[in-house]
Amino acid sequence: MVKFVLIGSGLAGGLLAAYLGRRGYDVDLYERRADPREGNIVGGRSINLALSTRGIHALEQLGIADEVLRHAIPMRGRMIHDKSGNLHFAPYDVDPNKHINSIGRAALNTTVIEAAQRYPNVCVHFNHRCTDIDLDSATAHLVAPGVKAAVSAANPGSSVEAGVSPANVIRARGDAVIGVDGAFSAVRQSMQKKLPGFEYDESYLAHGYKELTIPPGPDGSWRMEKEALHIWPRKSFMMIALPNPDGSFTCTLFWEFEGPRSFATTKTNDEVRRFFDDEFPDAVPLMPNLLDDFENNPTGSLVTIRCAPWHYKDKVTLVGDAAHAVVPFYGQGMNAAFEDCVVLDECLAEFPNNRERAFTEYFSRRKEDANALADLAVENFIEMRDKTASKTFRAKKKLDHFLEAALPGTYLPLYTMVTFTRIPYAAAARRARFQDRIVYGSLTFLLLLVTFFILRLVFLR
Ligand code: FAD
Repeated sequence: MVKFVLIGSGLAGGLLAAYLGRRGYDVDLYERRADPREGNIVGGRSINLALSTRGIHALEQLGIADEVLRHAIPMRGRMIHDKSGNLHFAPYDVDPNKHINSIGRAALNTTVIEAAQRYPNVCVHFNHRCTDIDLDSATAHLVAPGVKAAVSAANPGSSVEAGVSPANVIRARGDAVIGVDGAFSAVRQSMQKKLPGFEYDESYLAHGYKELTIPPGPDGSWRMEKEALHIWPRKSFMMIALPNPDGSFTCTLFWEFEGPRSFATTKTNDEVRRFFDDEFPDAVPLMPNLLDDFENNPTGSLVTIRCAPWHYKDKVTLVGDAAHAVVPFYGQGMNAAFEDCVVLDECLAEFPNNRERAFTEYFSRRKEDANALADLAVENFIEMRDKTASKTFRAKKKLDHFLEAALPGTYLPLYTMVTFTRIPYAAAARRARFQDRIVYGSLTFLLLLVTFFILRLVFLR
């Protein structure tokens, strides 16, 4: 039986192991962290995420969508908080039943790992960190617990880590290795080092992010509207908040690293307090732990990663953030990673005896969409932090919803296509540009026509 060695049991790793297990492949899944069920929170990433149609579809194929959605909180639209504390609610879609879902990362991670472990041919090994891949023999080099680790996994300098004796490096050989090890993938770094012509590009935003908490009310209730994604848009930066099942909200501040008002210049409790009082006055009374959270929670960076190709012969391929990390402003990184799993599974089914062809097809079916999503995600940052506050933006959303209702199936707003359909990202972006040209072209034409008739009336008098 064909054996896959998977590196990384994050969101996509667990799901992919379940897909491969279902197809009857032998799967060995290696994860550098401890088992999340032992109380180890998946650190370094958001506590909760927005799950939407593409991700739900991927979970449905394995029969675990209901299990996941049972713990989700629907978010039916954006709740915009202006500086005076006024609220404006903008539904995500003209159809009130369309919503995105706030889910806990740790719970979702556990669900997908358990889904994989239901297959006896899937074996999960926690506390195993991949340091290198021998591409031609599809062999992963791993460092197990108790072995001294001196080099960051994000930058493994050699096949054997400094301070680790070669005897302590475990070699896991498969027919193919799949890197599902996130944005700083060790598998991708091995490909980058060893494959001449491997294309790689990473670009960081000037903004970082920090997670903060609004705890539950005394009776365990939510202290703001529960079924909404809250946004405090402030032009060059913003804060958002997603609800959690325990009554709390996880807030994320996206703010410049450097500059006159930035993470770099806001250090003392007084400075932090003043900044929040100025910018988010309605949130401050709900955040009793603000100063502690701000001081103790890490400031993360936001990276877009593009690379090509995503595979090497029939030996190695990349899935999820390892292949295409995107900034989080469309809430699609995980959804896209889940969609990768569906497409890779389809390609393996289409070419069961030609894995190289399956990997090549998977890459060619996904690459354009990953690029399109990367662009959409950056553009949506500008929309969320700046435009959502404006009346023009709200009018545009109303026009979108009007046209969607008036022309069902013909006109679909971009957000709807990305979030509530499985139209490939690149096709959605192209269709939105075409729709915009027609709508704004027609509006301009109408305006000119009305102006013409008004002028005619005036001059014919
Ligand atoms: P990861 O989830 O990062 O998993 C990688 C796994 O590999 C981890 O478990 C890691 O420990 C393991 N690993 C790494 N290196 C090694 C190694 N050398 N050896 C062994 N194991 C290793 N997406 C959405 O769809 N909706 C959202 O609302 C959303 N919000 C986000 C908010 C923020 C602030 C951020 C930063 C991201 C957000 N995302 C969101 C994106 C989402 O988190 C990622 O796209 C998703 O986690 C990708 O899944 P993955 O399995 O590819 O990578």
